Amino acid sequence: MHKVLVSRCLLGQRVRYDGGAHGPYDLLQQWQTEGRIVPLCPEVAGGLPTPRPPAEITGGNGHEVLDGLSQVLSIDGEDVTPAFLAGAAEAAELVRCHGIRLALLKSRSPSCGNEETYDGQFAGIRVAGQGVTAATLARLGVQVFNEDQLEQAARWLAALEDGTPTA
Ligand code: SF4
Repeated sequence: MHKVLVSRCLLGQRVRYDGGAHGPYDLLQQWQTEGRIVPLCPEVAGGLPTPRPPAEITGGNGHEVLDGLSQVLSIDGEDVTPAFLAGAAEAAELVRCHGIRLALLKSRSPSCGNEETYDGQFAGIRVAGQGVTAATLARLGVQVFNEDQLEQAARWLAALEDGTPTA
């Protein structure tokens, strides 16, 4: 049985920067019952408190953070890049430990966003890009979906477990 890395805030755990959470989601409850969920909040794992000031990637591209080309700054101007990198490293360790091929992460987060983040101006402007942890997982070959892609994630997992080639 394949394990799935899941953002803790999608499991109803109040780890968001503002102390909030998301869910419940039927699919995640099913995965919980099956014992396949490996929960992670990269920002908390990286040492940040809850609640915490919102943070954005300068330019919105987590790969640039991994390459040392961009920073993650809080709205107060604090450089929180080291905490974001530590959280991403924890995700990579969990992937290695559990042989994870699939992740279900919160959309648009500077850590977890798989397709979009915000541009670093704290003005609500979305840009194409991955959060720091999502970018790390992509580099490890993990397929990352978000909470708006639950059916796709379920299909991808079913294909993986059927031995059908997956994209
Ligand atoms: Fe933590 Fe990711 Fe959820 Fe943000 S989106 S609260 S980093 S699990």
